Amino acid sequence: MANILVAGGAGFIGSQTLLALAQDGHTLTTLDNLSNGFADNVIVGDFIEGDLHDAQLLDTVLVDRKIDAIIHFAAFIEAGVSVTNPMDFYDNNVAGSLTLIQAMVRNRVRKIVFSSTAAVYGQQDDHDLLHENLAKQPINPYGQTKWMVECMLRDVAATGDMEAICLRYFNAAGSDPDARLGERHDPETHLIPLVLDAARGVRDSISIFGTDYATEDGTCIRDYIHVADLADAHSKALALLLGRNETPGTPSAGFYDAMNLGTSRGHSVREVIETAKQVTGVDFPVIEKERRPGDPARLVADATRANKLLNWQPQRSDLKTMIADAWRFRQNL
Ligand code: UDP
Repeated sequence: MANILVAGGAGFIGSQTLLALAQDGHTLTTLDNLSNGFADNVIVGDFIEGDLHDAQLLDTVLVDRKIDAIIHFAAFIEAGVSVTNPMDFYDNNVAGSLTLIQAMVRNRVRKIVFSSTAAVYGQQDDHDLLHENLAKQPINPYGQTKWMVECMLRDVAATGDMEAICLRYFNAAGSDPDARLGERHDPETHLIPLVLDAARGVRDSISIFGTDYATEDGTCIRDYIHVADLADAHSKALALLLGRNETPGTPSAGFYDAMNLGTSRGHSVREVIETAKQVTGVDFPVIEKERRPGDPARLVADATRANKLLNWQPQRSDLKTMIADAWRFRQNL
């Protein structure tokens, strides 16, 4: 069992991962600046309100709490917003992560699991499934910031000072089994919560951003993955890192890997909307609009690497289950 710092643990995926790590018996500290997270999402472990840019705070937390490993979720995530407001993304996602990595090296905390994203791949017209080795060509600043942090971790790992696993999530969905932890962003920009808001009458309608993509029904395709399956993958990635006992400074010490977390099955925006209508039993107006800048047409994972290396298989990631779980959470809001 280990002392784990969870940066960004008050957010949607971080808070769910805390539950999995608590089950594994780890001692948990969450650090979150609450820019997008909620303190009451932190159901287990200690909570510290603070920012990744605060190097002094990081030194104190890493030393006082004898941190063995870090899981790093703390980032801005809205691809569309990153196009209109790129500097905030570079500051928060890149500069904040650099400060964290520097603090880790300074304090000899060697192990990190990093939240990355399918957005690092960008538009890949020749590939139905995205393999980890494809060229990284993000088409929005959000994906670019995540790729830059992956590169930092890879390069620091190559010096032997760090062991890192980057997990490239596709589209997180669902909630925890008790419907306590779900997606709640303000403002909300993600498809499933917005569709469910249309179903519960909080919004008048749902907009489809683009119906002229080169996909089967003209709308964008994404690989939706249940947040509980993502949490399980983090627990397994952390166990892999904690199980390694290389001597720092030796050539094998700098373990580094990046893997996709998805189902290898894509769903279009129209399919998500139709499934939500079935699950909720509510019909709501759907409005076809222009494309949203920065959206690749299709993002679907080749997830065989995580399946093999982490011995991980999604358990709750069929679309109906994910929407039903998200619906129970959304109705409780
Ligand atoms: N989308 C949409 N209407 C909305 C919100 C999103 O049509 O109100 C589309 C969006 O353009 C993208 C897909 O749904 O093609 C998934 O978007 P989301 O923001 O949920 O996740 P992303 O893939 O950007 O991380």
